[in-house]
Amino acid sequence: MPDKFDWIAEEMNALQEQGFRSSIRTIGSACGAWMTVDDKEVLNFCTNNYLGLANRPELKKAAKEAIDFWGVGPAAVRSIAGTLELHRELERRLAAFKGVEDALYLQSGFCANQAAIPSLVGKGDVVFTDRLNHASIIDGCRLSSAKVAVYEHCDPQDCERVIKENLGGYRRAMLITDGVFSMDGDLAPLDRLQQLCERYGIVSMVDDAHGEGVLGRGGRGIVDHFRLSGSFDLEIGTLSKAFGVMGGVIAGRSAVIDWIRQKARPFLFSSAVTAADTAACLAAVDLLEAGTELVEKLWENTRYFKEGMQRAGFDTGASVTPITPVMLGDASLCQRFSRRLFDSQPGVFAMPIGFPTVPQGKARIRVMISAAHAREDLDLGLEVFARVGRELGVIG
Ligand SMILES: *Cc1c(COP(=O)(O)O)cnc(C)c1O
Repeated sequence: MPDKFDWIAEEMNALQEQGFRSSIRTIGSACGAWMTVDDKEVLNFCTNNYLGLANRPELKKAAKEAIDFWGVGPAAVRSIAGTLELHRELERRLAAFKGVEDALYLQSGFCANQAAIPSLVGKGDVVFTDRLNHASIIDGCRLSSAKVAVYEHCDPQDCERVIKENLGGYRRAMLITDGVFSMDGDLAPLDRLQQLCERYGIVSMVDDAHGEGVLGRGGRGIVDHFRLSGSFDLEIGTLSKAFGVMGGVIAGRSAVIDWIRQKARPFLFSSAVTAADTAACLAAVDLLEAGTELVEKLWENTRYFKEGMQRAGFDTGASVTPITPVMLGDASLCQRFSRRLFDSQPGVFAMPIGFPTVPQGKARIRVMISAAHAREDLDLGLEVFARVGRELGVIG
């Protein structure tokens, strides 16, 4: 008899042949500018640790103290017995940080989209969504059963066309966009999208996962960057990137957040985030509110690295954020480039990204800059990139 899972071996072989099979590296140290990856100490350009908070003493101390007081797990979902004072405190602090009425803290940014979208739209409604929106938005839309109407990437004109084409046929409408697009580091035209939502009476929602702690005054995010505080209906965020910890957030008007507390399945049917994570997030908010040095350092590092790469002859694409794509075009060249970087002395850890994550012919190495990088780290990174670039004939 054939094995029930023979099909997996076949599919795996197909992935391997097409070059889509990912091998997963194992990390052997805390997240920082340098990390142990597959037993080798390398310069890290892969994590979303924008502000270097993932291993910051203040956050670790808060987490340890929270464990001593609260224990390790709440053993309940938020709606039954899992809502700790810490959760409510974090929600109030995040709302104040963003200048909105209320916020809901969830297990992850991924969960936040699963929670927000199906609570607000359903069968008979329509969602306008950017072609390159994150997978968690796509899945949230699917779960909602609303009609999904896709507009071209960062194109308000096309968005208006799609709105006009669909609006009449549906009960309620919502527009959802990523704030920062994670593969190119470009920004949604939030001001123009907001005007469209205003004009047509559409609920506006932005997923600011890569903008929080990065954009806006003191890292208050993309809505603050565009000076749209108070006029964007919903902000989705994550505490797992710049905040360095774990969790997601939905921020907006209290009536809307209250409704989501009644309806959202990740809130009702999956256990609450631990006290340790929540306390560490609170310590991150403390740091962000105490000063803007970390955010400034992140941007200073970003400018320094991008200029260095451009001077060396690399194409850093359309990015206007610390996400720095190094455009190489060919997917197999990218794979080789990334492997060479890793095997260099010192090793440099930066991911190759190819089709189907980005379009054919647009393969790139993605460099994630952090405030945790010292100037010498960036210089070393630039030196290794230039060496590998010359060896592989990418630059002269
Ligand atoms: C990373 C990311 C998420 C997921 O956040 P997690 O907290 O890691 O689950 C959601 N949306 C966008 C746009 C992201 O970039």
